[in-house]
Amino acid sequence: MVDITERKLAEERARQQQERLQSTARLVAMGEMASSIAHELNQPLAAISSYCTGAANLLRNRAPATDVVPALDKAVEQAQRAGNVIRRIYSLARHGENRLERVHLGAHIDAALALMEVDIRQKSIRVTLDLEEEAVVEGDPVLLEQALFNLLRNAVESMRDTAPDQRQIHIALSCTDGYVVLTVADRGCGIDARVADKLFDPLFTTKAEGMGMGLAICRSVVENHRGRLSFEANPAGGTVFRILLPMAPQ
Ligand code: ADP
Repeated sequence: MVDITERKLAEERARQQQERLQSTARLVAMGEMASSIAHELNQPLAAISSYCTGAANLLRNRAPATDVVPALDKAVEQAQRAGNVIRRIYSLARHGENRLERVHLGAHIDAALALMEVDIRQKSIRVTLDLEEEAVVEGDPVLLEQALFNLLRNAVESMRDTAPDQRQIHIALSCTDGYVVLTVADRGCGIDARVADKLFDPLFTTKAEGMGMGLAICRSVVENHRGRLSFEANPAGGTVFRILLPMAPQ
């Protein structure tokens, strides 16, 4: 006769441990989801607020309607963008899968730049582009644009202490060996070797106002599209972020 009580107890402990781990993982995933929604909505809401403040100030100063309309048009655009984010989340929650379309990345770079237009102008950042027309991938346009936007926003924010005449972002899009390569190069503060391996962790941030979700979202979007996200030091100073995505079949 062999006493198996000890073994049974050990198995039970292992099972409970496993259950605890799983529920922690679910909680972490929910937390990540909640902060990523907050992150995606924050930008359009901030833009709506500033366009409406601008419009109100113009009206207070009795500016002609033709001056006010463009600000309101932009506020409407941003409200639609926020609506798109919500719709995407609904449809992800319902189907648990991404929408698949042919996505011309160049057009989405333009759209992401338009969203950052005010910041870029205020900070006198020079943006140069080298975009290949045929750079088409298969994927979800809203998620991909969000990933581009996050890289662009980080590039803008990295140049806070860069001399104004050195502030430059170069965005390049090319196709090689069945892959689309997108690079966003800034002349910002660069990335300290001590934090390089934490950069993509959710909630990791070095900014006072940062949420630390931008790169985590960016990486999960890129990997969900069977791609890779990486970064390296910019030889001219600053950092280059690189997205590699499989080209869409012809
Ligand atoms: P957040 O922007 O809210 O901090 P991110 O996940 O987008 O969150 O970025 C995490 C951290 O990575 C940033 O706080 C910053 O330290 C660093 N980082 C990201 N992009 C750049 C960049 N282009 N140049 C320098 N540091 C960067």
